[in-house]
Amino acid sequence: MFRRTKIVATLGPACRDAKVLARMIEAGVDVVRINFSHGSQKEHIKSVALLRDLAQKAGTTVGVLADLQGPKIRIGKFEKTKIKLEIGDKFILDADCELGNQERVGLDYKELPNDLETGATLMLDDGRIVLGVSSVRGRQVHCVVEQGGYLSNNKGINRKGGGLGAPALTAKDMADIKTAAAFNADYLAISFPRSGDDIRQARELMQEAGGNSMLMAKIERSEAILALDDILEASDAIMVARGDLAVEVGDAAVPALQKRMIRNARANNKLVVTATQMMESMITSPIPTRAEVSDVANAVLDGTDAVMLSAESAAGDYPVESVEAMARVCLEAEKEYSVNTDRRMPAIHPKTIEEAIARATMYTASGLQIRAIAALTQSGDTALLMSRRSSKVPIFALSPNRSTRSKVTLFRGVYPVEFGEGLNDPEVILGLAEDELLRRGAVRNGDMMVMTIGEPVGKTGGTNTMKIIKVGDFKKREQANSI
Ligand code: PGA
Ligand code: MN
Repeated sequence: MFRRTKIVATLGPACRDAKVLARMIEAGVDVVRINFSHGSQKEHIKSVALLRDLAQKAGTTVGVLADLQGPKIRIGKFEKTKIKLEIGDKFILDADCELGNQERVGLDYKELPNDLETGATLMLDDGRIVLGVSSVRGRQVHCVVEQGGYLSNNKGINRKGGGLGAPALTAKDMADIKTAAAFNADYLAISFPRSGDDIRQARELMQEAGGNSMLMAKIERSEAILALDDILEASDAIMVARGDLAVEVGDAAVPALQKRMIRNARANNKLVVTATQMMESMITSPIPTRAEVSDVANAVLDGTDAVMLSAESAAGDYPVESVEAMARVCLEAEKEYSVNTDRRMPAIHPKTIEEAIARATMYTASGLQIRAIAALTQSGDTALLMSRRSSKVPIFALSPNRSTRSKVTLFRGVYPVEFGEGLNDPEVILGLAEDELLRRGAVRNGDMMVMTIGEPVGKTGGTNTMKIIKVGDFKKREQANSI
């Protein structure tokens, strides 16, 4: 009934319209991705305001993921937005070109000619277009088209095998971090990080800008795979960024890497998003292909927190249908026994009190007939720890903290619930929590639920108590006492 896997949808021209965005929220978007590779800061601020307004009107919470462009080497814009390249055509990547045409296009990373030599292979638009470098002349890279197709504004360039030198945070990224902090992004995605240091640097900049976004490392370079442990340690979340990753490591290596990344992220109490081309054909078709359905379902079975739409929602003809299709596929895949049961649980030992409570809760919920979990949380950490265990029991994160509620939108199996500030009587809290879960249809009178709480109430990081409750019993006792 409650979909556990979350849906991230990228905002773009196809859904900037309030009506379309409202329908996407209705269809189940949990987190919206603001892509700093396109659009102006002003547009992004406006989009976030519109999104939050629509979500509030719909009575729901939608998280915001701000995705930095990073040193993605991209071509510039064209006079006529797109051109068609044929095999054998000559084409120039020109650092000094303003507006591109059939012959040449500009570069946002002006250093590119310095990183290349004759014989290098360049992959444009996630490998759709392949260019062989025939010569490098000053600030121009002369190429021959080896695989043709349409090429449009700002498409990415990768070098086959990796090894382009650009630093992870560009001047634009640093400015965009301030914008992300200004609109209180819940998540900040770092593109093309090479090591944990890139993430640590971004976190410092985010803190300087007064923001508190959780940091997501996009794993999309060969180097990042080698540094995965360090990157995981420095991050709160990772993205399996299959578009660029496939170009760097070869497309066939990606599926196994996806499984490894999801497994490692969860084992380290980190979040993970699976991204790129999940419903690609839905850019122009109202239904997904069988292969796309399988891809989304497999990411669910792998244990991803979220599946992501890119061009499908940002620039496609069917943004709402793409969300609906994803939701439907996730729900069905989540019925599979292996994803709602945790076989490894007894073998792992908790390292903190909070983790012990989270584990005990999930262990209990896997045995007794528990219908729902209510986790009272200031920071969201307890809910995160719970959601690292596979389960079919919904986890409600009850928090007075708006930013926490907005962040848990990405956590698998966790649902945000607004909860009064300043409550400190555990019995009152328990009564309110029961009411809220009853209202949402998560429990009925007589059902069992678990509640976790930090006593004394109101302090961050203090979850130390787990209660098993039969819904309605506590109220009955209260009534009996008052007679
Ligand atoms: P992008 O990142 O959409 O910003 O390129 C995702 C990916 O590379 O898969
Ligand atoms: Mn990418």
